[in-house]
Amino acid sequence: MTSIDVRDGVPPVDRARREYAELAARGLRLDLTRGKPAPDQLDLSAGLLELPGPVYRAADGTDCRNYGGPRGLPELREIFSGPLQVPADRLLAAGNSSLELMHDVVVQALLAGVPGSPRRWAEEERVAFLCPVPGYDRHFAICERYGIEMIPVPMTGAGPDMDAAERLAGADPAVKGIWCVPKYSNPSGETYGDDVVRRLAEMRTAAPDFRIFWDNAYAVHHLTGEPAGLADLLAACAAGADPDRALVFGSTSKVTLAGAGVGFIGGSPANVDWWLDRVSRRTIGPDKVNQLRHALFLRDEAGLHDHMRRQRELLRPKFDAVERILAAELGGTGLASWTTPRGGYFLALEVPEGCAREVVRRAGEAGIVLTPAGATHPYGKDPADRTIRIAPTFPSLPDLEAAIAGLAVCVRLVGAERAATG
Ligand code: PMP
Repeated sequence: MTSIDVRDGVPPVDRARREYAELAARGLRLDLTRGKPAPDQLDLSAGLLELPGPVYRAADGTDCRNYGGPRGLPELREIFSGPLQVPADRLLAAGNSSLELMHDVVVQALLAGVPGSPRRWAEEERVAFLCPVPGYDRHFAICERYGIEMIPVPMTGAGPDMDAAERLAGADPAVKGIWCVPKYSNPSGETYGDDVVRRLAEMRTAAPDFRIFWDNAYAVHHLTGEPAGLADLLAACAAGADPDRALVFGSTSKVTLAGAGVGFIGGSPANVDWWLDRVSRRTIGPDKVNQLRHALFLRDEAGLHDHMRRQRELLRPKFDAVERILAAELGGTGLASWTTPRGGYFLALEVPEGCAREVVRRAGEAGIVLTPAGATHPYGKDPADRTIRIAPTFPSLPDLEAAIAGLAVCVRLVGAERAATG
């Protein structure tokens, strides 16, 4: 579309500017930045606030009020063992955050190495991680904080480009890890294909202590009645190149209470023993009262899935609204494409190259705050300046609808201005 492509006698750029002026005049104050559960989702877990009541003993008689039990409560680990695809005896229930577990694994690897490390990672001349893009900004922030070089690998719609990952990990011993959100990925919503999982487990890595950070944050967060399948990475690693290659993470942050949930870490026996040894200097045991509360509230794996069905009833209309508005406002314009996730908390909107920052800036000026463009890439820099992460969960449905419609106005404005200036 160019500025001479005139409809109704009004050049597109003028029409887009008028729409934008009307949007800005509404004085909206809307926030689409972070993937937080909305208050009605948190209300689904109101029962947790009444638990554990007078009960303080775990199924095995453990007094949860006291110190100890570094692996976490067995009955809670049992509930999450299937969904996270980690045998319960190798799945540990920890504090309230999986991100802190990932952070601490990186720090411990730097300070002490992991099983199979020839030396502490901090003693290596360079340490690098493969970063599938678009990806999760907080993963990238951990690398950035500790000087770990980030090497982007494009996502394909079914996980990372494995030709690129194999080439990079196979050639460079500094490449020590890869960040993966394998199901309903943040932000594209895609799920890794079976072939990708197999190749991750089987690929040759130049580093003997390469680690897959398998952040299965959205393992049970389906938006449809047909949950995405995911191949079992730990089993594939046990049969593949290195049984110790993968560390699995998950949490109840987006199952129950985002600030007061339970984080999990799991892996091979060697990795679990390593982690327990490292963590034994840091804590005399996790918050077992919170873990007991969760076990009583969720009851069993079927109870977990029931709870997630209630979450889906609240979330599905929001994702549907985003899809409907984007299709109505931007479909066929050639100005945007977007992902349609079957689960998780995000979708990715792609705008023409070089436009994402400008769209986010214009939206911000009109009162619609979006995750900064570039956040989906290492160092906050999206070289194509195309990807915008959309987090539909937190705003109310009317606010979300207003925000997405407003975002579409900004995409049309930036597109029309680019076209007008050639
Ligand atoms: N991993 C991913 C992929 C996430 O999207 C999030 C939350 N935005 C987290 C981890 C954070 O999890 P936790 O609350 O367990 O630290």
